[in-house]
Amino acid sequence: MIEKRQFYIDGVWVDAAKPNDFNVLNPSTEDVCAVISLGGQADTDAAVAAAKRAFATWSQVPKAERMALVERIAEEYGKRAEDLAQAMSLEMGAPIDMARSQQVGAGIWHIQNFLTALKDFEFDRPLGDHAPNDRILLDPVGVVGMITPWNWPMNQVTLKVIPAIATGCTMVLKPSEIAPLSSLVFAEIMEAAGTPPGVFNLVNGDGAGVGTQLSGHADVDMVSFTGSTRAGIAISKNAADTLKRVHLELGGKGANIIFDDADDKAVKRGALHCFNNTGQSCNAPTRMLVQRGRYDAAVEIAAGVAEAMAVGSAHESGRHIGPVVSQAQFDKIQDLIQAGMDDGARLVAGGLGRPEGVNRGYYVRPTVFADVSNDMTIAQQEIFGPVLSILPFDTEEEAIAIANDTPYGLTNYVQSQDGARRNRVARQLRSGMVEMNGQSRAAGSPFGGVKQSGNGREGGTWGLEDFLEVKAVSGWDPEQG
Ligand code: NAD
Repeated sequence: MIEKRQFYIDGVWVDAAKPNDFNVLNPSTEDVCAVISLGGQADTDAAVAAAKRAFATWSQVPKAERMALVERIAEEYGKRAEDLAQAMSLEMGAPIDMARSQQVGAGIWHIQNFLTALKDFEFDRPLGDHAPNDRILLDPVGVVGMITPWNWPMNQVTLKVIPAIATGCTMVLKPSEIAPLSSLVFAEIMEAAGTPPGVFNLVNGDGAGVGTQLSGHADVDMVSFTGSTRAGIAISKNAADTLKRVHLELGGKGANIIFDDADDKAVKRGALHCFNNTGQSCNAPTRMLVQRGRYDAAVEIAAGVAEAMAVGSAHESGRHIGPVVSQAQFDKIQDLIQAGMDDGARLVAGGLGRPEGVNRGYYVRPTVFADVSNDMTIAQQEIFGPVLSILPFDTEEEAIAIANDTPYGLTNYVQSQDGARRNRVARQLRSGMVEMNGQSRAAGSPFGGVKQSGNGREGGTWGLEDFLEVKAVSGWDPEQG
């Protein structure tokens, strides 16, 4: 049993002000695998005060020094890669091979991309040739409260901590209480990298406690949140009284538009993508829109992918998918599968209950519904499990209308061999990202959404800008640098 009751505040590991034990469950077995503490107001205040003190010096440190720290963090992250993979596999159920490659890999990818973006990033710019005495200084926003979810723990932590460090901000991280173990390893990485005391702090806690205390705190200048739209709304309201900046990365209900002229692998690729990480990705392509000429074949292929998809323990090697994270998520997914059946969608693979022969662990059957219409609950609500909905369409206009008919706007996907059509459709989709023909977005591409998927952009240059304030200065002496 792992016992990790302490928080990392002001460069040291400290006990919670008041003991408040919280059990972390292993979703593969439902057993308690660790005990942490949930913090309270005194812990939050201590961490914010440390971050505020550290800001006075860290905000003035030159870019080269901040970059050097990020480089040391990358090095330490590499050394602890296996510990991070084991922690994520245990706390949120990512199968160990996938945890090593994708979950750990996402973090190192972001750190490297931030280093690349930083190299050419000018924090100090002329306004223009017409105004030699005007200068634009990009200042760190201040103390940042970071609230992260459980589904891609290191992906989300690195997308917030690294740009904050890089821009001269200081921070308090509150990871998900359901999956806090990898973030505790990450805090050890920050310590080993020689992060100055108070620059990075970690306090465990839940949304009602530390999460709410951070979003309402007078000395927190910005909250960077990734998680559900529900919590994003609560955080925005709570942050309003102190008028802090609120950066939100929320849920999604991505459409994957497959035209008749899509490549042969498009359907299989889309279904596999939907089931990756057991469907627990905000950018999962969960609504597969298929043009009529390919529709019947697509339903058959997607059902075949689901039936062939192995489900198993996160602790076993292999390419299976693991359990979903918790009983609450398991129950929510079961309710939504039931809603799909009640609404008249055609169940072509999977369905209610655990996979055959399994009676413990939060395992869900990879499920495919055909003949879904976009007003059904399963087409509108984020399921966050391995459940794919297939919808038919006839024309390009109809596909765009269905894709945009959602409160969300994170990632949409387009599959077609016709480049002109791809570009035309990408222009009309209301989402922060569009990925086409199975091509992932490249290094430094900004991640984020529109509408109820949020307002932030993470990664690369845009990810740095989200942690900066623009200061306009006149009377600048250009000779003095
Ligand atoms: P969640 O919103 O319940 O919890 C996320 C975090 O917020 C946790 O740390 C939690 O303790 C905290 N929290 C909860 N309520 C809060 C409140 N009122 N005030 C302050 N903090 C609060 O979400 P989850 O179940 O952990 O994660 C799944 C959700 O995250 C999904 O909806 C998914 O789409 C979304 N997500 C979005 C992105 C993205 O970048 N857009 C990435 C990953 C996950």
